[in-house]
Amino acid sequence: MTFDKLEIIDPILKAIGEKGYTHPTPIQEKSIPILLRKRDLLGCAQTGTGKTAAFAIPILQHIYNDATPEKGRRKIKALVVTPTRELAIQIKDSFSEYGKYTGILNTVIFGGVKQGAQTQALNRGVDVLVATPGRLLDLIQQGYISLRDIKYFVLDEADQMLDMGFIHDIRRIIDLLPKRRQSLFFSATMPASIVSLAGKILGNPDRVTVKPEQTTAEKVGQSLYYVSKKAKPKLLIFLLKTEEADSTLVFSRTKHGADKVVKGLQKAGIPAEAIHGNKSQNARQLALSNFKNGSTKVLVATDIAARGIDVSELSLVVNYDLPNIPETYVHRIGRTGRASASGNAISFCDTEEKPYLKDIQKLIRQDIDVVKDHPFLPGGVEDNAVEEVKSDRRRQQPRSSKASKPSNSSRSSSSRSSNSSKSSGSSRTPNSSNSSKPSYSGNKEWRRGNSASKKRAE
Ligand code: AMP
Repeated sequence: MTFDKLEIIDPILKAIGEKGYTHPTPIQEKSIPILLRKRDLLGCAQTGTGKTAAFAIPILQHIYNDATPEKGRRKIKALVVTPTRELAIQIKDSFSEYGKYTGILNTVIFGGVKQGAQTQALNRGVDVLVATPGRLLDLIQQGYISLRDIKYFVLDEADQMLDMGFIHDIRRIIDLLPKRRQSLFFSATMPASIVSLAGKILGNPDRVTVKPEQTTAEKVGQSLYYVSKKAKPKLLIFLLKTEEADSTLVFSRTKHGADKVVKGLQKAGIPAEAIHGNKSQNARQLALSNFKNGSTKVLVATDIAARGIDVSELSLVVNYDLPNIPETYVHRIGRTGRASASGNAISFCDTEEKPYLKDIQKLIRQDIDVVKDHPFLPGGVEDNAVEEVKSDRRRQQPRSSKASKPSNSSRSSSSRSSNSSKSSGSSRTPNSSNSSKPSYSGNKEWRRGNSASKKRAE
């Protein structure tokens, strides 16, 4: 199936052709015909499946086809509500790109920045508004926005919206919408709370489900490194120096952990930046644009901040910490291998993370290839070297180290977080950058493991 079979109008076909899209992704193939018939839609899909184009193309087409001369400034006809600023900006950019030959105007509003530039754009008049919930309600209250003329409403990433506590804001927004409208509702997961919220927004929707969990996991080359917590910083440096990836996204479970990883990398001469909720909006945008334009090769992110990072050339994802929610693993590795591209994902697993690994492998229904020979194997020479430095430093307060001996430890989050910060601290040891060099003289099975897994994925 190619796009021209979907009855998309020429100005949009031309724009997506220029983007290099030839074939619709599954969510696009299923949703575009439904949406062009002006039906409501309940979509179970996540970022990375091509869902933005799935809703943006039909909305642009309707606005284009139904255009009538307007007196005064343009009225807002389509509203897309999404949980994070990064996603909002990304969706706005997609509307601009797909709609570049339609004359349709859009803008984006989000909190955390001054409102002046946003209200100026609104005053000039737009057809499509992309917004995060808080700033939207704020500007409605101040009289800059009216939802009276909305004909198309999209609620994006509904599950994340609820996770972030936006439920009351969403209800208030829904109450302000005209009753006659086309509504689209997207969520990566469909627990009961989401289904009930969908029932309040949608009439009698058509349903579309794409299961990126399996498809994404299958096309990404995945490999697993067993490593002790304390050796993770060095393994990361070692891999970044040997993998030669153009752009690497490293996932840390905590904001503090992300900052520590960045410090360790910078000390080892690897330019890296962190992106997480404690950073200002401007710092996040700057880190993201440095990463997109290639001046920063390594971005270290927490899960929430990483949602919405859309970098088409992303070649490597590193799970520095394994997530305790298996679906998060799939979201993370979906950052590489987006749409039609394939990518690589490397995961570190310490003893305490083994139960998480089990859950992940159950979800993706495959065993991740283990790299059996690498310099920082738990209990190996390099691993013990990290330990020796640490015990030297702790001579004043000697205590036995259990870290190098795998044990069946608990999954309690408190023990995980305290250990994790200890591990990151080891990157500050005097020998850190020296032993990070790939001085390892063993065979290169770790590389073979990696390419074997990629090959299998292809
Ligand atoms: P999304 O799920 O909307 O965030 O899209 C994920 C990525 O896929 C983005 O980088 C899009 O530019 C890209 N994409 C969307 N649709 C297509 C398509 N039909 N062909 C190729 N790439 C696409």
